[in-house]
Amino acid sequence: MQDKPVALVTGANKGIGHQIAKDLAAHGFTVLVGSRSLKNGEEAAKSIGADARALQLDVTNQASVDAAAEHIRRELGRLDVLVNNAGISHAGNPDRPLEEIAESCRPSVASLDEVRSVFETNVFGVIAVTQAMLPLLREAPAARIVNVSSEAGSLTLNADPANPHRPMFGAVYSPSKTALNAVTLAFAIELESAGIKVNAACPGFTGTDLNNFAGTRTVEQGAREPVRMALLDENGPTGTFSNEDGPLPW
Ligand code: NDP
Repeated sequence: MQDKPVALVTGANKGIGHQIAKDLAAHGFTVLVGSRSLKNGEEAAKSIGADARALQLDVTNQASVDAAAEHIRRELGRLDVLVNNAGISHAGNPDRPLEEIAESCRPSVASLDEVRSVFETNVFGVIAVTQAMLPLLREAPAARIVNVSSEAGSLTLNADPANPHRPMFGAVYSPSKTALNAVTLAFAIELESAGIKVNAACPGFTGTDLNNFAGTRTVEQGAREPVRMALLDENGPTGTFSNEDGPLPW
């Protein structure tokens, strides 16, 4: 087992996940750059430096998830931080215009295949990866799990008629993040006695492929809250949902 702490970031070949991986490497971690394409992961790891290594990981593929856990145990022997960052906002063509996506997410017309596909990555993928990594995380001295969520999933915010973003609460991405928040809380409750802190962090509206770069925050800004939650000391909270400005309502 190596002395340096180890962090795994899923979907770290680009976007916010790539920046989270970069920041954790700067904080002294050996960072595993989870990527469903090994080639993209290797390029991303190279751009971070010697402390980053690519790890093939498709969160929707159980064989890939199991192989990743086995690889970490064999090659590094430890895992201290898991950042469940991989996420999609919609299924299908990545170049679909945002207006068309918003229209297709209306609950009255949303395709169940699309709902299933987004939940498969954003919710079931997180459960699968967390379960597979838990044996390693339980052995770490102070393990942390961060689930990269979104204000779009907040039931409290979206139930407020004064919220201008409320019309965007569709049937696809938003409820996937609501479910992710519920999963976060469930893991936090179960793992509290084991000393493993589990929190949901929202990066804010960040310019990435996820929104065709319509987001107004930089990836450096978007990574800040997930990284902060990954570095919590023993006095830090568990079972919370927050962004850079503070706690968010569930
Ligand atoms: P990007 O599209 O830039 O990156 C998403 C990452 O997830 C990519 O690395 C992608 O890999 C990966 N990914 C998708 N599906 C899978 C899969 N099945 N297995 C493994 N990796 C996968 O988006 P962001 O950086 O913006 O998104 C990161 C997270 O932040 C997501 O969870 C998103 O919901 C959340 N978020 C983003 C916001 C924003 O404004 N950007 C706001 C709130 C939350 P590949 O390159 O192979 O597609």
